[in-house]
Amino acid sequence: MMIKINISSNVIGEPILAESMIETKTALNISQAHFDSTYGEIIAEVETDDFKSIREALESKGAKVTVLDHPIVRDEEECVECGACISVCPGHVFSFDEEWGIAQDIEKCIQCGTCIKMCPHHALSLEK
Ligand code: SF4
Ligand code: SF4
Repeated sequence: MMIKINISSNVIGEPILAESMIETKTALNISQAHFDSTYGEIIAEVETDDFKSIREALESKGAKVTVLDHPIVRDEEECVECGACISVCPGHVFSFDEEWGIAQDIEKCIQCGTCIKMCPHHALSLEK
């Protein structure tokens, strides 16, 4: 399962991610990480069986953990297969298939919303 870990300014300088992984013996497959001096955001995959323990460990140290379980939805009636979403998606969710239609791998969606703003036909939305 995909999760987002938000680390706020009061704990940004502390090794809470490493400590939580060691403490719970949990591996996180990190696909994206953005840090500055005030804020951190990490997108990672974790085994479902390990989720509860790593979430508890992280949240006890001041992080916020969100499950990314509402991936992008494409309205095939509205989509004109222009490919704009392919180039802007940081998760490489979209691609052209062999017939130049749009293929998608929604398991990779990190719910950033970028493609929604870029789609000229308003064909994309996030599931609620
Ligand atoms: S940007 Fe919108 S219209 Fe263009 S291919 Fe993607 S979903 Fe379809
Ligand atoms: S919401 Fe973000 S990660 Fe998901 S498909 Fe759109 S651009 Fe890609």
